[in-house]
Amino acid sequence: GKGAAMVTAVAYRLASQRKHIDEILASFKLSKENLREVKTNMRAELEYGLKKETQPNATVKMLPTYVCGTPDGTEKGKFLSLDLGGTNFRVLLVKIRSGRRKSVRMYNKIFAIPLEIMQGTGEELFDHIVQCIADFLEYMGIKGARLPLGFTFSFPCRQASIDKGTLVGWTKGFKATDCEGEDVVDMLREAIKRRNEFDLDIVAVVNDTVGTMMTCGYEDPNCEIGLIAGTGSNVCYMEDMKNIEIVEGNEGKMCINTEWGGFGDNGCINNIRTKYDKEVDEGSLNPGKQRYEKMTSGMYLGEIVRQILIDLTKHGLLFRGQISETLRTRGIFETKFLSQIESDRLALLQVRRILQQLGLDSTCDDSIIVKEVCGAVSRRAAQLCGAGLAAVVEKKRENRGVEHLKITVGVDGTLYKLHPHFSRILRETVKELAPQCDVTFMLSEDGSGKGAALITAVAKRLHSVGEN
Ligand code: BGC
Ligand code: MG
Repeated sequence: GKGAAMVTAVAYRLASQRKHIDEILASFKLSKENLREVKTNMRAELEYGLKKETQPNATVKMLPTYVCGTPDGTEKGKFLSLDLGGTNFRVLLVKIRSGRRKSVRMYNKIFAIPLEIMQGTGEELFDHIVQCIADFLEYMGIKGARLPLGFTFSFPCRQASIDKGTLVGWTKGFKATDCEGEDVVDMLREAIKRRNEFDLDIVAVVNDTVGTMMTCGYEDPNCEIGLIAGTGSNVCYMEDMKNIEIVEGNEGKMCINTEWGGFGDNGCINNIRTKYDKEVDEGSLNPGKQRYEKMTSGMYLGEIVRQILIDLTKHGLLFRGQISETLRTRGIFETKFLSQIESDRLALLQVRRILQQLGLDSTCDDSIIVKEVCGAVSRRAAQLCGAGLAAVVEKKRENRGVEHLKITVGVDGTLYKLHPHFSRILRETVKELAPQCDVTFMLSEDGSGKGAALITAVAKRLHSVGEN
């Protein structure tokens, strides 16, 4: 009768709604073949970046860092570190002791960088940084001391020495004018001069991946790779000098900042990008750039989720078909929210509460769908990151010419540290795709600040030897 027809219609509608959701989730699933292809392509891009001929157009830039060794425990002294480019801006005082009672002590202060400064003029940005340093020196009572400084600047820089770095291009949430193509150390020095209140000896400019590798290398000499899975995504590793064509010399090793976030900018991963990835890219500060980073890092995962939720809502499959102001707001799903939503210890009711805090009124069914969407997006991110890392450890293995490689990766970043599943899936993927490598992951405690100080200590030591 009529009732049965209605039940059938409802069942039909539910089934077709579920079908639409499942299709979206399926577009985020990667096959073994997909992942192997990512690894192979990444491996090829690493080579292009190292070769003189292909390097100018390489999407994975493979930037020399002029860091030529991991710490040996003899580093000592008092240093200042700056850490710009992650979730927070920090200024640190780092005291390193060598010898039998080798230790590192740190004091730090976190400062906010307002959006209008991140996206204002370069001068304003660097004046703000120097203002924060002044506050810190005052706070610590060390304004008169001319301490050596290590500047962790977590953006791609072309370096010609340890204390020079030309910004290739901003990434993540930064877009200050008149900085690209400029030496960021000069910009910092000029801002210090403008303020005319104190002097600092800027010794090193350091990528956060390198700081992380150095920090872990201080404890474990087998650590020759640094990974950041946080707001942004990147890897560095120790490469044989003879393979780095754009730097003179064939002896020893140098750390290469891969800037792998740019992987895929030539279209080589288009087959796995979804329309949501394209929407996130188009709405970003740097469209067309950092495509791999936009599929794997904290700043963008929430944005992918948001694009999917908007789509589902438009189709009447979520939030009663109502696209709220919140859902239209960029950046609402921060890593910490995704991590909470995906935590298996949270009951669905709590997921609903989190969504409510964000201003999203959800039903119980909604919260199930949101959780599924978050899971699909973060799982793909961890797998992609793992496939990239598999390419790097395999390269290390071949460099050494060994059947089996034992290596440690120093890791930092909010996504790796906070997310309930990301790190496990990443590790499983590396194991699967690089079975001849035995990879230990070492969490770095405050990699950026400590690492910059260690690099500064090493650079200072080498430099003063050279001067005598
Ligand atoms: C930057 C890298 C940095 C990474 C992690 C990327 O956006 O280009 O230099 O290492 O984020 O912070
Ligand atoms: Mg950081």
